Amino acid sequence: MQKTLKELKLRLSEIKDLEAAAAVLGWDLATYMPPGGAPARGRQIALLSRLGHERLTDPEIGRLLEKLEPESDKLPYDDDDAALIRVARRDFEKAVKVPPEFVAEFNAHSAAAYQVWTTARPANDFQAVEANLEKTLEYSRRLAEFFPGYDHIADPLIDFADQGTTVETLRPLFSELRTALVPLVQSISEQAPVDDSCLKAHFPESEQRAFGKRIIERFGYDFERGREDKTHHPFMTSFSIGDVRITTRVKENDLTEALFSTLHEAGHGMYEQGINPEYEGLPIADGASSGVHESQSRLWENFVGRSRGFWTFFYPQLQEVFSEQLSEISLDTFYRAINKVERSLIRTDADEVTYNLHVMLRFDFELDLLEGRLAVKDLPAAWNARYKEDLGVEPPDDKDGVLQDVHWYAGVIGGSFQGYTLGNVLCGQFFEAALQAHPEIPDEIAKGTYETLHGWMKENIYHHGRKFTPAELVERATGIAINVEPYLRYLQTKFSDLYTL
Ligand code: ZN
Repeated sequence: MQKTLKELKLRLSEIKDLEAAAAVLGWDLATYMPPGGAPARGRQIALLSRLGHERLTDPEIGRLLEKLEPESDKLPYDDDDAALIRVARRDFEKAVKVPPEFVAEFNAHSAAAYQVWTTARPANDFQAVEANLEKTLEYSRRLAEFFPGYDHIADPLIDFADQGTTVETLRPLFSELRTALVPLVQSISEQAPVDDSCLKAHFPESEQRAFGKRIIERFGYDFERGREDKTHHPFMTSFSIGDVRITTRVKENDLTEALFSTLHEAGHGMYEQGINPEYEGLPIADGASSGVHESQSRLWENFVGRSRGFWTFFYPQLQEVFSEQLSEISLDTFYRAINKVERSLIRTDADEVTYNLHVMLRFDFELDLLEGRLAVKDLPAAWNARYKEDLGVEPPDDKDGVLQDVHWYAGVIGGSFQGYTLGNVLCGQFFEAALQAHPEIPDEIAKGTYETLHGWMKENIYHHGRKFTPAELVERATGIAINVEPYLRYLQTKFSDLYTL
């Protein structure tokens, strides 16, 4: 078994290296590359992706797995090699079921559709993207058809991002959440709006960035194995466990933009930095799912970074850095400002209470489109009506309506959004479990120390990479299956204190 396993690991690590090389090119494209580099860079990334896909679908991988599986079946379930073989089997099966011609065609379509969207959005021109979106919908359906045996056509697409999650499991979860959130938003919006003008003064870029770095260093983001650069749309990317980078964007007239995007991406980054170093170069050295990954970004951004305790420690320091802007502003005013709940149009700017309403309506539209219950041409009107119904606001145009998110214009329709809300729900569960194990965590947060919280996350989540399925990981870490109650408890407690509910 050892010789065959070594051969498999070598092949898998070469695939991972090709992916990492493509990721370096992608990071450079999004940070420092001059515009003139775009055409060649697109070609170079496509080549590396194709080489990686060819190697992953090499029948020899299948033969090696077949040889190894009878042996690995005898190993304990949580043995690392057994887990590697399970993960490799899953990746192999997913890759071989989709013909390479389809992959190439869909990728080319997505790249072209993305280009159109980049100009269509500022021009508020939905018609410009309509035909592409119809094609994307067709490609998305065809992609799902390569995985027959599903209950709902969206299931295979959801499974790419959130393994094991289906429409049937998501529907009751989301409905429970929506039932609780709509009246909560309603009762908050009946109250006097919070004044957040203290966040809109002039805050010089270099001070903002230095302050964000100071915080995430204390969280435990390791700058020896990472760095932060500027970009248009912040993201995290990993080239190895020893090189996990994050990006941010800065608005000098809005203190929250760089700060919270830095905390968010650092959460993703600490996850990847915390993976068991023995998994280096192997496909299990990755996050468990998009939902589990997002649980970590939201944990450090919101559960920690927008908590009163956190700012009890950091606000005096922030006031020192921006004394002119904040010396007259009390901690309470600042805390209320960064937690202002507001019915708004843009998902990425939404507060913790309204955020999931933005996500869940997108999820419903993906299902409607895939099922053929909604035509692409009717999407903008349906979008605006649903915003009115759920959030009480109606987009004045498509730019800040149906055109706002890149996802459908550069990828698949189906499986693109549920991970954001799963992330919040899981964050509630993980945070509650960590607090049960270590009741001292809130006091530590108020003292600016995060070792216990970070340590719990590392031990129970980060360390395992993709070793367990998301459902297994959640059950092992929290003792229960996915459940919205801890998250709802968190929101109720926090926002009852902020608003009179
Ligand atoms: Zn994220």
